[in-house]
Amino acid sequence: MAEQATDRIIVTGGAGYIGAHVAVELLASGRSILIVDNFANSSPIAIDRIREIAGDDVDVRVLALDLADDANREKLIEAAIDFGANGAVHLAGLKAVGESVAAPLRYYETNIRTTFNLVRALEAAGARTLVFSSSATVYGDANQSPVNEAGRLSPTNPYGRTKFFIEEMLRDVASADAHWRICNLRYFNPVGAHPSGRIGEDPKGPPNNLFPYIAQVAVGRREKLSIFGDDYPTPDGTGVRDYIHVVDLARGHVAALQYLLTREEKGALDVNLGAGRGHSVLEAVAAFRRASNRDIPTQIVARRPGDIAEIYADAGRAADLFGWKTEKSLHDMCTDHWRWQRENPSGYVED
Ligand code: UDP
Repeated sequence: MAEQATDRIIVTGGAGYIGAHVAVELLASGRSILIVDNFANSSPIAIDRIREIAGDDVDVRVLALDLADDANREKLIEAAIDFGANGAVHLAGLKAVGESVAAPLRYYETNIRTTFNLVRALEAAGARTLVFSSSATVYGDANQSPVNEAGRLSPTNPYGRTKFFIEEMLRDVASADAHWRICNLRYFNPVGAHPSGRIGEDPKGPPNNLFPYIAQVAVGRREKLSIFGDDYPTPDGTGVRDYIHVVDLARGHVAALQYLLTREEKGALDVNLGAGRGHSVLEAVAAFRRASNRDIPTQIVARRPGDIAEIYADAGRAADLFGWKTEKSLHDMCTDHWRWQRENPSGYVED
């Protein structure tokens, strides 16, 4: 039997938090990758660390490019053809909910243009396989948990709507041209870091999300965690979310890509990536205290506008289609997040 050619995958946003973990897992699965990133919200040091984790025998290329700029589309087409790409994982984009409310046009322009240019480039390069980084935020507050992929889509902020519109666009693209194979991955709450402690989330400014905030309190960079509401209709009154270890999440991308590259049937599909169970804010704080052995002062404050009480995934489709499910526990998420925070208290800095 002829040896199968190695898949050659473009990873947009591959220096970012999730992208770096996806890059590592793609390399571990034997693929070659071309990271395309504008480093606007990520560090080139992440690339060194990806190489360090992946070892010597891997093929990692990097193209520093802003895909939101239409003038760069031709450069991407050239690079994709030169690389011999046969698919892409698309994670480049802006992701801060609050910022998207204040600057909606910037969000629509950046996220949608970037996708547009990537899809055009993949088309030109004849690489019509795409895994897209969507978000459970597309479900908004319109569904009972566990939420499955047939749930109503009603995002409640501009960031979420960019994800929703991109999903719609990709579904249209796939139905118009039967060569496309597309998967919209709807992430629940990615947390944690690579167990090596070498890559992780490096938020600029005060973190908006729970885990990076807890971690910065634990390390002494912030005084205390504000818990946004303890009067929700949940078992302990605090918000419940489906936290997923970023390494499990990254492996979900590899599983999705493998599925797309090997299945006969074409078109677009939507798949949740979550653990399929919820944890409250208080449970997350308690788990982080245990993992870090640090005191984590908290105070209860008012609910955060736009937050919902509870959301967690029905993770059945990913299991059925890809044979993928999460393997790591809340304790693993806290242990790995803490190791990253402790060993990189200021984020990515040259060794
Ligand atoms: N949360 C909190 N304090 C914070 C950040 C978040 O109590 O400083 C709560 C938030 O209300 C929600 C949960 O933690 O119930 C997860 O919030 P995050 O922003 O991480 O994710 P999302 O709301 O997007 O699911």
